[in-house]
Amino acid sequence: MLNKNTEKQKEKMLYLYTRLLGYIKVFPIAIFGSVFGYIVFAATTPATTWWLGFTVDAINSENYETLRIVSPLLCLSIVIVRGIGGFYGSYSLALLSNGVIHKLRVELMNHLMHLPVRYFDQITSGKLVSKFTYDVSQIAGAASNAIAVIVREGFTVIGLLAFLMYTDWQLTLTFLLIAPAVAKVVSVASKYFRRYSTQMQESMGELTQITNESIKGHKIIRSFNAEKFVSSKLIQASEKNRIQNIKMAITRSASTPVVQFLVAVALAFLVWLAMSPEFFSNKSPGDFVAFLGAAGLLAKPIRQLTQINSVIQRGLSASRSVFSILDENVQINTGKNEVERVRGKIEFRRVNFVYHGSENAVSNISFTVYAGQTVALVGRSGSGKSTIVNLIPRFYECNSGQILIDDVVNKDYTLESLRNQISFVTQQIFLFDGSILENIAYSDSTASREKVLEAAKRAFAMDFIRQLPEGLDTQVGDDGVLLSGGERQRIAIARALLKDSPILILDEATSALDAESEQNIQEALNNLMIGRTTFIIAHRLSTIEKADIILVLDKGRIVESGSHNQLLAESQIYNQLHSGNFETRTLDESL
Ligand code: ADP
Ligand code: MG
Repeated sequence: MLNKNTEKQKEKMLYLYTRLLGYIKVFPIAIFGSVFGYIVFAATTPATTWWLGFTVDAINSENYETLRIVSPLLCLSIVIVRGIGGFYGSYSLALLSNGVIHKLRVELMNHLMHLPVRYFDQITSGKLVSKFTYDVSQIAGAASNAIAVIVREGFTVIGLLAFLMYTDWQLTLTFLLIAPAVAKVVSVASKYFRRYSTQMQESMGELTQITNESIKGHKIIRSFNAEKFVSSKLIQASEKNRIQNIKMAITRSASTPVVQFLVAVALAFLVWLAMSPEFFSNKSPGDFVAFLGAAGLLAKPIRQLTQINSVIQRGLSASRSVFSILDENVQINTGKNEVERVRGKIEFRRVNFVYHGSENAVSNISFTVYAGQTVALVGRSGSGKSTIVNLIPRFYECNSGQILIDDVVNKDYTLESLRNQISFVTQQIFLFDGSILENIAYSDSTASREKVLEAAKRAFAMDFIRQLPEGLDTQVGDDGVLLSGGERQRIAIARALLKDSPILILDEATSALDAESEQNIQEALNNLMIGRTTFIIAHRLSTIEKADIILVLDKGRIVESGSHNQLLAESQIYNQLHSGNFETRTLDESL
């Protein structure tokens, strides 16, 4: 059982390594540069010990006068070569690691934008942000650090060992007896490194999430006097992260001296052997100095090689977290139909949809809206109104049934073409960092200033935009905090006007506004609705009364439908709703 598990673990590790390698190997020149540079760098270490021996022997040599010039020159050349190799190696490595970061970020964002909305329902934004920032940099750090240390220190060790072998291979072999012991320490430490790294990433995600929430919700926190609650949550998460970091540090700090001690034992043994008379029988004092020098220089690269393990494990565990996003299936986009502009007929045919579990959010929804008509959805909160409109642009996929746009199933359009046909205006208006102009022209950054101005005018947004210090070019600030709800709403309407799509969805577009701003917005919305098939979900009656069809929903089902006058004449439920409030009462209560 245990064996099976470790086998699987190894397989997984190997898979992660090869997948990571895939990101690295697209930069062959940078890899070659760093490997080549570091090999040159590494070669100068045994060269230095050789030079030391050479110089010691030169003192007693016959052509002492010549060597007095040669030796310092050699010293300088070694340092120059070492410098060039080191520079070339680390420069190429910087190219490599930043290339990997860039590639991963771009790939992640591309992938993220094509994941189904469902994915975002189940992951916190903080965790995602932390994957983008912390985890990606951990991967690149690990990759570049690993290459640097493995190539540079690895070749240093190889070079030194080769030099030792060359001087006395038998002695050197005894030195290598400690290798298995070192390997054991390293492998035990790896296990812990990996465990703590994964925990650390998770707690970083949590920390980011709490920080995000606290910054975004700072007003609510103040108004509810929840500072203590927030800070205790943060303290907990940060403390968890701190402890994991410490555990990681303990493992690293403990494994390094153990390895160093093992190396020192081997070195001591080596010195004892090298000081024997047999060693000197055919060697010079210079050989002795060079041999011991080389053996002594082995300690540092070996130590670094064992330390790199923690970085690699951290990188592997970060790559697992990043790859988990890349492994999420993107939304199916196999439709082939491309349309410039649909007319806007929409038909629901027995549509069922489940968020998760077994309970339908909407059941057996069938209705038809013709191009240019307005359909209003009414019903209490949670009755499935938003769900229905979210199915049209395929934010979620129906579990059964079909939605047809101009008599073509929505899945048969390409996602891009489908979404080009639809403008969404909801209660929560999201403004992006940038100017008002950029926010209005979000769907089409090439739109001319005149067109944007025209859209803003028809959305009645110019009234307030003119008052702003830089007009259309005013920066909206983080998520548009500088603008009032009504102003944001008008920007959203201008955005939709500019997009000029044949289908319009207004999901409680005016619910967040007071009655007066709603009056203003209503005119802008009327402008927006002209000539479009419109779905409208609203609280207040005035907007709904004019709709061509009204669908009354309860518990995910259409319970009544018709025009306002029809429903008023025929439907008891609608009459009850009409005299009361569309939202707050359940149908059961109003009946
Ligand atoms: P309405 O817009 O009429 O208020 P919704 O369509 O938002 O209602 O919600 C219908 C039902 O689906 C509710 O029971 C709600 O809790 C559930 N629901 C809505 N959004 C999600 C979601 N993203 N994940 C899971 N359940 C959801
Ligand atoms: Mg809703």
